[in-house]
Amino acid sequence: MRLPKFSYRVPKKVSEAVKMMVDSGPETSFVAGGTDLYPNMKRRQQTPRTVISVTRLRELREIRGDAATGMVIGASVSLTDLCEHPVIRRDYPVVANAARLISTPILRNMGTIGGNLLLDTRCNYYDQNYEWRKGINFCLKKDGDVCWVAPSSPKCWAVQSSDLAPVMVAIGAKLRLVSTVGDRLIDAAGIYNDDGIQYLHKRPDELLTEIHLPPVNGTRAVYKKLRRRGSFDFPVLGVAASVDVASDGVVQAASLVLGGVAPSPVQVREAEAALVGLPFDDERIHAAVEACYLKARPLDNTDFVMGWRKQMTRPFVRRALEELQRCTATGNQD
Ligand SMILES: Cc1cc2nc3c(=O)[nH]c(=O)nc-3n(C[C@H](O)[C@H](O)[C@H](O)COP(=O)(O)OP(=O)(O)OC[C@H]3O[C@@H](n4cnc5c(N)ncnc54)[C@H](O)[C@@H]3O)c2cc1C
Ligand code: SF4
Repeated sequence: MRLPKFSYRVPKKVSEAVKMMVDSGPETSFVAGGTDLYPNMKRRQQTPRTVISVTRLRELREIRGDAATGMVIGASVSLTDLCEHPVIRRDYPVVANAARLISTPILRNMGTIGGNLLLDTRCNYYDQNYEWRKGINFCLKKDGDVCWVAPSSPKCWAVQSSDLAPVMVAIGAKLRLVSTVGDRLIDAAGIYNDDGIQYLHKRPDELLTEIHLPPVNGTRAVYKKLRRRGSFDFPVLGVAASVDVASDGVVQAASLVLGGVAPSPVQVREAEAALVGLPFDDERIHAAVEACYLKARPLDNTDFVMGWRKQMTRPFVRRALEELQRCTATGNQD
């Protein structure tokens, strides 16, 4: 498969990048590592005429801060640098560990944290070459008028398959978006939209510049990923869990987020309510597991049978919470 023709531009400053985006018009995309955008362009799922690289923007490659102050990670930091950064590994091991589970070492050298958080949604009927998609008369997400997964649905159910998205939502990260009209800092949870086509609450002209991780303040977090091959594969279920447990063993705050089961990360408020204000024991973990099981409604549009993927919610949420229970008991992080 070949890339279509496009103009490639390489700004050196953020102000230059966002101006270029406005000047180039609507058929323009930012690109970082290109490990998602370029395969999509080869399959003609996305066909920008101009591509603006964000890899030479120095500000987007910086990492600063620590557990006490919170950390700021530039959007163009590679997944490899994220996995290997000593402060991230020490203070936010859940971020380094989740990044290490993404794709392959070579793709992690190219792929960035920003590109990962803004990944296109995925579906078996969409992640195919042009001829294959033409053979089924395309689908709602691109060039067609029916959803082959849920034919009576007016909505696309393509799946949010980023490994870092549920983690960022669970730990309460914030994202900085910059455009020619100003900048805004939004909760990671606020950028995702439960629609496989309009999957982001972000304007195309907005550049993601920074990811802000909050101070740790005793919170512990883990990420568990279900995929076919342990070597590399997109998640068909991701469980990000974080808890803050007081010295008397009572849960002060909790967050349970499921990835790979819907067009956006799914925050399971019922599971959080089952834990907060109560001892972090097996009974509450069981209640949280059941709440997640009820909330997970995967459809038949990724790898594995959807009924089995739903069943797997139970052991994966249980493993995540039991690991957190062990680390809060022993005082280890992750
Ligand atoms: C074989 C294979 C396996 C993979 N496995 C996984 C996996 O297991 N888990 C997983 O999560 N991902 C996986 N990926 C997807 C991808 O490699 C990673 O998600 C990677 O982090 C994407 O980052 P990138 O910089 O290459 O994104 P790009 O392709 O450069 O960009 C992705 C999207 O984000 C936009 N974008 C990028 N940076 C910015 C910015 N700063 N501001 C605004 N918009 C921006 C682009 O316009 C594009 O729409 C896999 C990919 C392949 C090819
Ligand atoms: S969920 Fe439906 S509309 Fe969306 S990509 Fe899949 S088949 Fe297409």
